[in-house]
Amino acid sequence: MKRLLATLLVLIVGIASSGLLYAQSSDHSIFQLSTLNALKQGVYDGETTFGELRKHGDFGLGTLNGLDGEMLALNGEFFQIKADGKVHLIPDSDRTPFAVVTFFQPDMKLSLSRVSDMKELQETLDRMLPAGDRPLAIRIDATFAYSKVRSVPRQEKPYPGLEDALKQQTEFELKNVRGTVLGFRFPTYMDGVNVAGYHFHFLTADKKAGGHLLDCSTESADVDVALISNLTLKLLE
Ligand code: ZN
Repeated sequence: MKRLLATLLVLIVGIASSGLLYAQSSDHSIFQLSTLNALKQGVYDGETTFGELRKHGDFGLGTLNGLDGEMLALNGEFFQIKADGKVHLIPDSDRTPFAVVTFFQPDMKLSLSRVSDMKELQETLDRMLPAGDRPLAIRIDATFAYSKVRSVPRQEKPYPGLEDALKQQTEFELKNVRGTVLGFRFPTYMDGVNVAGYHFHFLTADKKAGGHLLDCSTESADVDVALISNLTLKLLE
């Protein structure tokens, strides 16, 4: 009985400090195409079409062949945010060299109060989310007082590495826009396979702007989190 009470107390404290937990044990999977290190080395062409990719998830991020902009998938729609800042729906026949997707089913729900920049957002999430070595898929819905996003222009062969390609990135600042930030937190031991830590892409609610998230501030935000326990890694052919 004492142990039951202690468990209950831990559960209640857990809920109070880290939001509402829907389920303790989930079995969600991520499908990943290629690795961050491959992208860093300028491997920007893959054979996998978006028609194939959507069989593995309805939520996620990545890029398109030739590093042609930022990719974001939300509710089964795949968007390309090009270097000119314009957003396009991606046809099933387009191909990707790097993508991370999941069928998003949240296990946890959090309410964030004011965060003033990206660093504070990440620190707040770190405080509220389960510690440990499990990858997380994260969706944040909010009106962002400020956000800064970037995209990259399509690269020409011979492809430069990612660091050089990103020297050509275009940045956009958005003020007072509602939208969805989504992405993943990967543990440090996965550094190079994917981005260790947080990686977010952003799409405005009107689906007219977005990109790879560099900075943001908001007065409040709703956060949904899925705990990931499986990873399928498909290598480029
Ligand atoms: Zn990105």
